[in-house]
Amino acid sequence: MKEMPNVLWLEEIKKEDIVSVGGKGASLGEMASIGLPVPKAFVVTAQAFRRFLVETGIEDALFRRLERLDVDDNGALESVARDVQDLVLSVEMPDHIQQEITDAYARMGADGTVVAVRSSATAEDLPDASFAGQQETFLNILGEDDLLDAVQQCWASLYGARAIYYRAKQGFDDRSVNIAVVVQELIRSEKSGVMFTSHPVTGESLPIIEGSWGLGEAVVSGAVSPDNYVFDLRSERVVDRLIAEKEIMIVPEGEHGTKIVELSGEQRTAPVLSDAEVARLAMLGKIAEDHYGVPQDVEWAIVGDDVFILQSRPITTIKRPEIPRGEAEPAEQPKGALGVMLLEGQGASPGVASGRVVIVRDVKDTSAVKDGDILVTKMTNPDMVPAMRRVNAIVTDEGGMTCHAAIVSRELGTPAVVGTKKATKILKEGQIITVDGEKGIIYEGAVEAPAAAAPAAVPAAAASAPVITGTLVKVNVSLPEAAKRAAATGADGVGLLRIEHLILGLAKTPGWYIEHGAEEEFIAELYGGIRTVLDAFPGKPVWVRTLDAPTDEFRNMEGGEDEPIEHNPMLGWRGIRRDLQSHEQFRLQVEAFKRLWAAGYDNLGVMFPMVNHPDEFVRARAMMKEWGVDVENATLGVMIEVPSSAILIEDFIRAGIRFASFGTNDLIQYTLAIDRNNEHVADMYRPKHPAVLRLIDYAINACREHGVECSICGQAGSDPDMVTWLVGHGINSVSANIDAVPRIREAVARKERQILLDAARRNA
Ligand code: PEP
Ligand code: MG
Repeated sequence: MKEMPNVLWLEEIKKEDIVSVGGKGASLGEMASIGLPVPKAFVVTAQAFRRFLVETGIEDALFRRLERLDVDDNGALESVARDVQDLVLSVEMPDHIQQEITDAYARMGADGTVVAVRSSATAEDLPDASFAGQQETFLNILGEDDLLDAVQQCWASLYGARAIYYRAKQGFDDRSVNIAVVVQELIRSEKSGVMFTSHPVTGESLPIIEGSWGLGEAVVSGAVSPDNYVFDLRSERVVDRLIAEKEIMIVPEGEHGTKIVELSGEQRTAPVLSDAEVARLAMLGKIAEDHYGVPQDVEWAIVGDDVFILQSRPITTIKRPEIPRGEAEPAEQPKGALGVMLLEGQGASPGVASGRVVIVRDVKDTSAVKDGDILVTKMTNPDMVPAMRRVNAIVTDEGGMTCHAAIVSRELGTPAVVGTKKATKILKEGQIITVDGEKGIIYEGAVEAPAAAAPAAVPAAAASAPVITGTLVKVNVSLPEAAKRAAATGADGVGLLRIEHLILGLAKTPGWYIEHGAEEEFIAELYGGIRTVLDAFPGKPVWVRTLDAPTDEFRNMEGGEDEPIEHNPMLGWRGIRRDLQSHEQFRLQVEAFKRLWAAGYDNLGVMFPMVNHPDEFVRARAMMKEWGVDVENATLGVMIEVPSSAILIEDFIRAGIRFASFGTNDLIQYTLAIDRNNEHVADMYRPKHPAVLRLIDYAINACREHGVECSICGQAGSDPDMVTWLVGHGINSVSANIDAVPRIREAVARKERQILLDAARRNA
């Protein structure tokens, strides 16, 4: 350590200098070395800090104070942290260190440069340990005195209570932990944002860029809804663009700090980036991704014609088995503005929200859940839905994008992260956390500016002026209370109404109603719930699916004691196979449909789930006929969610289905043998697996040939990329989650135009 200078310029930093410059400094140095346009910066090294401790004579007193501390004694922790920080701030920085810092600062530019001063903590034995978010950052610093002061404040922040506590719990010896300080030219961004160099969920090479006006804090903290651009690196074109209404921007204020400015007029709705700028950013992202070998989450800024890359770190939501240690960016915690990352999982329902953790281990615990809490549980079940309605966000250990928690949260517009594997172990009762349901990240503490707690709002423009598409864009509904929000998207109908959520919400099984002679009550509940949805979509098709609840979901309900215990309920007694054996349960559902048709709801269609042979459709229809349904004129169709039903599609068509809808959530799991709710195999759950696509393509072609409407209502219908593929392959309609309808409509419109354009060119 001896020869290491007090100050290192970015260009001088080598990989092995991480011990001296910390994760942040090393990362910036590495980015500069591969030619990314990083703002000018130097690092006050960890050695400068150690020399400061030694030369001012405070080292021994400082560490002695820390050694005796019991970090679990909150009062003592706070008081020792205060004393130690005061000690660091009370002494004068040695002259030679001051001189080297101010000399470097002078070399940055004439007349003083405005800089950001950021802590970059490091440990001797584990230099890439992650301490980010625990030490201070000072933006907008101008002049030597303020710079020296900010550096010393950063040093002191190494001994903040939270940082001391964290290190103690992680087993770090305070004596081995150092701090470097990055002094970087502050970019007064005219526009800024973040970029995923690959799709953050699917991993495809489609860079996604989010941008807004002013400093990047607005986007990073979620204080503004940014524009969203998708760039296709192969065709080198912007393939998707969503221009948001940007209400505010954050700009530097005075000589310190920042302020929020309300945007007005054109700037609110003007695109932040030109196509050329999107392309430029995407190319820089590619350089970073190629260099690090894994997709990156990049922060960028633009001033005039100059593009800057401020940070690059691995995307945390794409599960890649190997991120080589030391080669990827040193383990930096994401989103300094949001604080320390505690956990990650799959972002299942978009939005960012903070609140108090309540761990629900049993349905009984839900009484402790208060408005605005964060519900943390192994996996939600229908009994928890009332509590799910009250909370700000939901976090689960288990599950994937199509589990109960994911489906219900999206419907409620509540941010959710699923499949974290260990939320119920890591998070503590009463702890304040922030949940980012888009990126799938849980942060410690509350977001400073809780971005309108962002539950999947439906953009007003999308609702008032929907793009007309030839392919119908419908919406999925599971809870009748979501019907109005669903209709506000302007969707062309409901492609899937899952009635099991309605039934499971009754807390009693259909069997209970039958056993207790309460059939009318059951029919009335079904009738009322379905009618609420039909009323929200007058004149538009609403496909109601018959009951598809696995036995384990019934077991906690009154009457559930007699449910069989199945080793694999997913493959068990559910869907149409159960209704065909439980005649009375099926009859009650059909009775509710009959009454709705009789009341004039001609837009009601009925869809049978889990069919695997046309016989099942034939038998179900025959039973409906027997119970008085005019089956010749009723719109009856099937879910294609078992490979056999895709393979036998022509037989289904011959049997008389009016429509077919891909339930890709199940179709994928049954084709690939990947449990859709098992977070351990979530990265192998591949909607675009060639076998899945081939089944879908085969079934679409058969339906087209026979004039049968072919649709999709699985989660893949909410993925613009998949929908683009489906439209290209001739699907008639798609049904998406409420939050996804606007972007799906755009994807459909774009693909349709491309098909028309291609045809026109061919004929020209
Ligand atoms: C599906 O399987 O894709 C589907 C929509 O049904 P569910 O998610 O309810 O099983
Ligand atoms: Mg299904």
